[in-house]
Amino acid sequence: MAVDESMVRNIVQDIVAKMTLKEGSGRHGIFDDMNDAIEAAKASEKIVKTLSLDAREKIISRIRQKIHENAELMARMAVEETGMGNVGHKILKNHLCADKIPGTEDIKTLAWSGDRGLTLEEMGPFGVIGAITPCTNPQETIFSNTIGMLAAGNTVVFNPHPQAVNTTIFAINMCNEASLEVGGPDNICVTVTKPTMQTSAIMMKHPDIPLLVATGGPGVVTAVLSSGKRGIGAGAGNPPALVDETADIRKAAEDIVNGCTFDNNLPCIAEKEIVAIDSVVDELLHYMTTEQGCYHASKEELDKLAATVMDEKGRLNRKCVGRDAKTLLAMIGVTAPEETRCITFVAEKEHPLIAEELMMPILGIVPAKDFEDAVEKCVWLEHGNRHSAHIHSHDVTRITRYAKAMDTAILVKNGPSYAALGFGGEGYCTFTIASRTGEGLTSAKSFTKKRRCVMVDSLCIR
Ligand code: NAD
Repeated sequence: MAVDESMVRNIVQDIVAKMTLKEGSGRHGIFDDMNDAIEAAKASEKIVKTLSLDAREKIISRIRQKIHENAELMARMAVEETGMGNVGHKILKNHLCADKIPGTEDIKTLAWSGDRGLTLEEMGPFGVIGAITPCTNPQETIFSNTIGMLAAGNTVVFNPHPQAVNTTIFAINMCNEASLEVGGPDNICVTVTKPTMQTSAIMMKHPDIPLLVATGGPGVVTAVLSSGKRGIGAGAGNPPALVDETADIRKAAEDIVNGCTFDNNLPCIAEKEIVAIDSVVDELLHYMTTEQGCYHASKEELDKLAATVMDEKGRLNRKCVGRDAKTLLAMIGVTAPEETRCITFVAEKEHPLIAEELMMPILGIVPAKDFEDAVEKCVWLEHGNRHSAHIHSHDVTRITRYAKAMDTAILVKNGPSYAALGFGGEGYCTFTIASRTGEGLTSAKSFTKKRRCVMVDSLCIR
């Protein structure tokens, strides 16, 4: 049966409108005042602390079930509210969160036993965690943080991006409903109806919050790391994809365009530019344009595009972030073919549409004279974020050289970038990737502190 887009849009608008909160509306985890939100999370944390691991896992299972049930609705809400991304891809991202964000199994105990007894190193909760979330993956970040933090025995106060507040509120309410439905406490995660820099400052300074987690651009990560508290910083990237002459070029074109266009390039790990050895540039471009729906932009179109997606100071035009390729082309007066997924061109690494993290399906190709030149260019383009980098090569020595030079939290070889999130690749999923502070792909154990528990001269039964 064909989906009536305008009917779905009306339903979503209706739901979003109903989500505009009235005081005392009794929605779970949603407060007008940040101090009240923190107090509620603190009270909930006292209960969470007493829950068995099994009880925590029951809440998490129910959250997973509800994410699956509401995956499509939430995806439509996110696109409707933020104007960014792709509904189909956001549905996939929601299901991925439900299936692959680790729960309590992530928390491991270390033990030493011997003549002098038994010593355990256990991972305990911090208490109430303050988390700041982006508009690019609004619900996915709420789920990554809430599931991981709860699995570790914490509760969480969110200060979400104002552009995604209703979407975020829906996710937070849903997590609390899940908890209540299986006998858990309310307010395992909380937020405010109007998140601002002031509510963020209250949260960051509050004495009941010992750990802050920032997922977003450089500004918020620096703010959290300057707070005087422990901080986990999941910041910006500008991931290059290197293609050398040993790669399967046709497959590289497919993988790179699939990764780059996923959710209109919103994920921070997504391919943002290509660096290819001179001898393969034409072949790569051929497959990208003839088989992968890439539109090859002329010099004149590129100039218009650069002037549209950025201002003269190089700041991103928010109306372009997360838009699809056809919409971006329409903004510069180009009617692109129906199958267009991505915009491509060949230029030097300094081109603003290559050097900047755009979060749009625009994929410039930088030619390199040899492998060493390509590595140097990729290191330059990544801007020291140490976030993500990708490579298409069948030469293991070169891959190793690249991995060491890039020194990133994520490096995908011979696949699309999203394989790093466990989507078409092995491993778990998160949408908080802390390259700057070293946790890498965060999970429950990232939100714990180590404790040593020692029994002297007993309980060694070897
Ligand atoms: P953004 O930096 O504009 O906003 C992120 C959050 O930080 C929002 O809640 C915003 O209100 C808040 N914020 C911004 N500046 C702040 C400050 N000085 N003090 C306190 N709060 C502040 O980012 P965005 O547009 O929502 O998301 C895109 C950016 O986030 C990109 O740079 C992307 O690479 C990055 N990102 C990184 C990860 C990761 O896991 N490393 C994940 C998603 C997004």
